[in-house]
Amino acid sequence: MSDHLTRQEDTIFGRILRGEIPADRVHEDDLCIAFRDVQPQAPVHLLVIPRDPLPSLAACNSSHAALLGHLLLVAARVAADAGLEGWRTVINTGAVAGQTVFHLHVHVIGGRPLQWPPG
Ligand code: AMP
Repeated sequence: MSDHLTRQEDTIFGRILRGEIPADRVHEDDLCIAFRDVQPQAPVHLLVIPRDPLPSLAACNSSHAALLGHLLLVAARVAADAGLEGWRTVINTGAVAGQTVFHLHVHVIGGRPLQWPPG
């Protein structure tokens, strides 16, 4: 089965959650944390990740509906806290779509004009 469909306890984001490697955190609560992407694609590039090590959106089901809604609301909050008037939220799902870390994450990207469609 693909990586993004199976449970992955130990990714680099798992290590960030456990405090084993540093991250520039901008938000944390009982369900998720948000921190700056180490390779920013724009002046503001944040990642919102659940504490639950779900590998991807494809691994979610109706039991995760509240968590997924919470991640989006936190994405909007950290974007506004960063001073953004508009931003892009991205969830890459599966290697073919560019996912490289198999722990669900929402990218929040802004601070420059963004083109559409993306590559
Ligand atoms: P994706 O390609 O959608 O899986 O996104 C993974 C993101 O995680 C990339 O934008 C990476 O730059 C970012 N990333 C990888 N390792 C770290 C890290 N240690 N701290 C912060 N961001 C990271």
